[in-house]
Amino acid sequence: MPPACPAGICRNGLLNMQQRSVNLDRKTPFSFSCRCCLACCRNKKIQVNPYEITRLARNRGLSTSDFINRYTTEEGTYLTWDAEGRCIFLDSQGCAVHRDRPLVCRLYPLGRHVTHALQESYSEFEPDPECQGVYGTDGQIGDYLESQNAYPFMEAADKYLQLFWKLCNILQNSAADPINDNLATTAHTGPYFSVAAPYDILKDVDGTVADFCKKEKVALPKDIEDQISIHIRAIEVWACHSRKGGQDEENVNG
Ligand code: SF4
Ligand code: SF4
Repeated sequence: MPPACPAGICRNGLLNMQQRSVNLDRKTPFSFSCRCCLACCRNKKIQVNPYEITRLARNRGLSTSDFINRYTTEEGTYLTWDAEGRCIFLDSQGCAVHRDRPLVCRLYPLGRHVTHALQESYSEFEPDPECQGVYGTDGQIGDYLESQNAYPFMEAADKYLQLFWKLCNILQNSAADPINDNLATTAHTGPYFSVAAPYDILKDVDGTVADFCKKEKVALPKDIEDQISIHIRAIEVWACHSRKGGQDEENVNG
C-alpha cells in the first residue's frame, strides 16, 4: 500500500473540488490555457477504468495485471501516489504518460456528468489555488475536449457505465431468484476464466480477453478498442453465467 496522501482532498479526489458552473454543454463558451505548473497532479485520487488501465499498461510496456499490481491502489481503482502526494507518473518533465493519461486529467478543470439515458453535461471547477492556467471564452467546451483527445476516453467510459447498469440489472434479477440470491456470493470464474477472482475479470483486461478468446476460439484483438469490446462482452457472459449457477447462458442482452 502507498502511504496515505498528506492532503485531505486527495481522499475524494476531484469529487471534492468546488464547482463554479454546472449544466454546461459542448457549445458553452470555454477555453483554458495550461501553464504546466503541474499543481493539478498532486493530492488527487485519479480513478481509472479498464480502458484507461489498458492504455496506461501499453504505455508502460506491461500487461494489465502487472500494471494494476505496480501502479494502482485498491485493486486497480486508483493510480498510486508518492509520499508527497504526487501522482506516480509525475516526473520532473511533467506527466510521464501524457499520451495515455486518464480522462479526468484530460478534462481538468472541467467535470463530465452522464445520466442513465447517457445525457451528458459539464461543470467547471473552481481553480486550484496553485493553478496558473488561464481561463477564457475563446472557444467552446467541445473544442477543448477535441484538443485534449478526450473523445475515445469518453466513449469507453460510457460503455463501461452502460455495462455497470446492466450488471446492476442482473444483480437485481439474481436477488429475486431463489437459486441465486446474491451474485457476489455465487459468482465464480470458471469455466471461461483462468484469472483468480471475479474482481480480476472486471479489471484485468488482458487476462480476461485472452481466456474469452481461447474459449470462443477467436483471434486475440490487436486494437485496444476491439479488446475493450470483447472485454465487455466477456463480463456480460460471465455475469449471466454466474447468475445461472454455472449453466451456459446465451442471451446477455438484458
Ligand atoms: S495546475 Fe493548472 S496550470 Fe498547472 S498543470 Fe494543472 S491545469 Fe496546468
Ligand atoms: S496521469 Fe499524468 S496528468 Fe494525470 S495526474 Fe498523473 S501525472 Fe498528472
